[in-house]
Amino acid sequence: MLNQIPTICPYCGTGCSVNLIVQDGKITGTTPNIRSPVNEGKLCPKGTYCHQFVHSMDRLKKPLIRKGEVFIETDWETAYHLIAKKLKECNAGEVGVLASARCSNEDNYALMKFARGVLKTNNLDHCARLCHEATMTGLSLSFGNGAMTNSIPDIGKSDCIFCLGSNTFEQHPLIGRQIVRAQSSGGKFIYADPRYTPTAIQADLFLQFYSGSDVAVLNCIMGEIIRNGWENKEFISLRTREYDSLKKTVLQTKYTPGEVSFLTGVSEEDLLRAAEWIGTADKCTVLYAMGLSHLSGGISNVRAIANLMMLTGNIGRPGTGVNALRGQNNVQGACDMGCIPNFFPGYQPVTDSTFHRKIGRIWNFPDGIAPARTGLDINQMFRKAGMKHDNIKAMVLVGENPLVTEPDQNMVEHAVKNLEFLVVSDIFFTKTCEYAHVVLPAACYAEKDGTVTNTERRVQRLCKAVDPPGIAKPDWQIITELACLMGYSDQFPYKDPSDIFREITTVCEPYKGMTFEQVSLPDGICWPCPSPDHPGTAILYTDRFYHPDGKGVFCPVEWKIPAELPDSSYPFRLTSGRVIWHWHTGTMTRRSKNLNDEVQEAYIEIHPADAEKVRVADGDMIRVRSRKGQLSCKVRIVPDIKEGMIFMPSLFDAALSRLTGAPSAGPEVSEYRPICVAVEPLSGGD
Ligand code: SF4
Repeated sequence: MLNQIPTICPYCGTGCSVNLIVQDGKITGTTPNIRSPVNEGKLCPKGTYCHQFVHSMDRLKKPLIRKGEVFIETDWETAYHLIAKKLKECNAGEVGVLASARCSNEDNYALMKFARGVLKTNNLDHCARLCHEATMTGLSLSFGNGAMTNSIPDIGKSDCIFCLGSNTFEQHPLIGRQIVRAQSSGGKFIYADPRYTPTAIQADLFLQFYSGSDVAVLNCIMGEIIRNGWENKEFISLRTREYDSLKKTVLQTKYTPGEVSFLTGVSEEDLLRAAEWIGTADKCTVLYAMGLSHLSGGISNVRAIANLMMLTGNIGRPGTGVNALRGQNNVQGACDMGCIPNFFPGYQPVTDSTFHRKIGRIWNFPDGIAPARTGLDINQMFRKAGMKHDNIKAMVLVGENPLVTEPDQNMVEHAVKNLEFLVVSDIFFTKTCEYAHVVLPAACYAEKDGTVTNTERRVQRLCKAVDPPGIAKPDWQIITELACLMGYSDQFPYKDPSDIFREITTVCEPYKGMTFEQVSLPDGICWPCPSPDHPGTAILYTDRFYHPDGKGVFCPVEWKIPAELPDSSYPFRLTSGRVIWHWHTGTMTRRSKNLNDEVQEAYIEIHPADAEKVRVADGDMIRVRSRKGQLSCKVRIVPDIKEGMIFMPSLFDAALSRLTGAPSAGPEVSEYRPICVAVEPLSGGD
């Protein structure tokens, strides 16, 4: 019997709707959902082959318990009892929990409640700390909330699209279609990046600049807009505050086109043209991704973008907005569910006594919940786990593989080795599992019901197509059963994900008016949805921002010299990004034959002139050295990259992390880019 089950692609944050074709209990193929407003009957290669890893022989099928140096298979009861015993031996402050941007809202909500209600800790985080903290923090300061302001279909209505730090046509190909749609209606596309990517090919204006000079470019554009009188005076006066300080900053001589051209490598003429196109467009939108936010200085970059869009009045209307493109399928949902150390679901501060009381009342744990104190974030947890005293003793990781994804592998490896107890739930035996005491087999996206929230805040249904392998279970069920065993069956009465979703709507204000049935495909619902008869909200801030006075706040930011600059020892700036065939660390895409056949090994790209300088030929094995580590891989010589820069895809185990090292200290985000490296041929024997 052949069935088509509509669900959501498990890869990028676009959240395309895909039908899984099921025959005799196996997924044999996919078709795009033609009724989805997100992908309108199209899929990129990753979505087309998103079924191929599901039945991989490598899937975890039974719980595993470490005995000395080996793991032995066990049953759920044995695994649960061991986990419960070990977690009960720890004080609340001695446990850390990592949720996952790849898991459903229900998985994440259950884990968040487990952390705060059962373990009594706010030491709870997930990978958004690295990729989108800058967006959450930066946009919250400017607008009062950190989410994408407009919808995906809205991008196609823009007159001018300005895209920075996002190779959209490879990272979010179905959002790339909206850029083409806008262009076919006469819209202009400005693209800023160090590489001549497939996205650059589509651009009407390409600003090829050095990583780390985003703020200088943005301030220069804003200065020119003001000098030419293209700013939206009415919007500035009615809907914003602190404009004078912005004006003073961006009109400084150091941000004039001549100065910024020297600094960034972009011609004066192109800077002026970008300012004119943005300043005179009726509807301009900005798209960006981790190439902009995943930097030291990421928060400043995001605030500069918010400044530009408020300056030109491009907020709160169709075809406008600040649109951060989320990398993983449920980053937005994991944040919405409160899987961060400082917020309950719906961004209610854990430190606010009113919210703390409200959540405590709804959950009704007899022994209370975690204190009204911000917990440790992912970096702090690992640092503390590696300490000798007063440390994190146990960690619960669901769908996270920090041994590969964290910038400083040495620090994480030291930390997990130092843990007294580590439990990991995942679909494959990842590198992090090697250090676990208990490994739990989780169901993947195709094997469970639930919801996920895409980059445009659209909550959509995951639908189960096939059974999990062996005795694997959905994470929400694993957490529920564990919580019940630990004495909290009244607080975890869930029989299926719809029970959890119902509770989410009582706790998480933006989801308040939704029902499990309403978010079914093809449309889903964009939050905020305040009441059951509300259609959802495609565009934020149509008449007021989320700050108490309703105003957006200009925050001038100064360009700062990047933490690392090229010198004679490390002459190249390293940048990284995705390729269309793979996703994240490749755990799933490398097990998809059609995708893995395209790109099978790590490589770097280098400009021909630089290749000549360091005496390497196309296909050579080379060594890449940074101040923090080194790796070897093949080289590809391409004219598409700016001289002085090298590019490396951010996948293939921990390769990139070997170069990035420890996160920079301070309030900005962990630093993947820009860092400086040396490139040299590998001599025999290396
Ligand atoms: Fe999946 Fe993203 Fe491709 Fe859509 S664009 S099919 S969500 S990987």
